Amino acid sequence: MTDDRRAQLADALAAVRERVAEAARAAGRDPSDVGLLAVTKTWPASDVALLADLGLTAFGENKEQEGSAKAAELADLRPDVAARWHVVGRLQRNKARHLVRWAHAVDSVDSPRLVDALEAAAAKAADAGERVEPLEVLVQVSVDADPERGGAPVGEVPDLADRVAGCEHLHLGGLMTVAPMDVAPEEAFATVWELATRVRASHPGATTLSAGMSGDLEAAVTYGSTCVRVGTALLGCR
Ligand SMILES: *Cc1c(COP(=O)(O)O)cnc(C)c1O
Repeated sequence: MTDDRRAQLADALAAVRERVAEAARAAGRDPSDVGLLAVTKTWPASDVALLADLGLTAFGENKEQEGSAKAAELADLRPDVAARWHVVGRLQRNKARHLVRWAHAVDSVDSPRLVDALEAAAAKAADAGERVEPLEVLVQVSVDADPERGGAPVGEVPDLADRVAGCEHLHLGGLMTVAPMDVAPEEAFATVWELATRVRASHPGATTLSAGMSGDLEAAVTYGSTCVRVGTALLGCR
């Protein structure tokens, strides 16, 4: 069973890496400039352990409790793996205090109130000796401003980025986006790329552009993505 799953994940990972590499080469980019976040939501910690064996260290979850449990399980299964856990989903502010105990990054920050809640939670965690590093934060951009999917409208992103950058216990990593259903992904990614360039002009450390998922990672790599977030193409259908 485990051997079958290991082989399946190895094949899927090779295929995803090849897609990223091909898109990067076509865009004149270095494939090694595009990171891979394995989105492991709904999949067991045993799968995360196998992905870690294959060399992955960045994992994404969209629920606080599931992520927290899986991070603890992985630490038991693979004590030597220095995993980095990202929260990629919509987040209620009251989860912030729990989340800062296990998450290294929140990729889906889209409101001033959430920024403030994360800063307060990260400050408490630092005081309590629960974390030393600042929490990495990406501002999620919503190209079509649809409130359902999360993300801040383009016009609000620069102020949100400034707010994150002004927080002592947060580090502004850059921007994240999910392409809307009703817009060509190229168009959405081009918009966010331009926005990311502007944000980086005021915040040189904000070098991450997290864009692209199983279905649209090529378009995202064409438009400057430095991190693709892949679930289905690696692990199968949820
Ligand atoms: C689930 C999820 C992904 C992964 O999507 P796939 O289509 O399964 O690759 C990426 N980003 C976010 C924000 C997600 O919620």
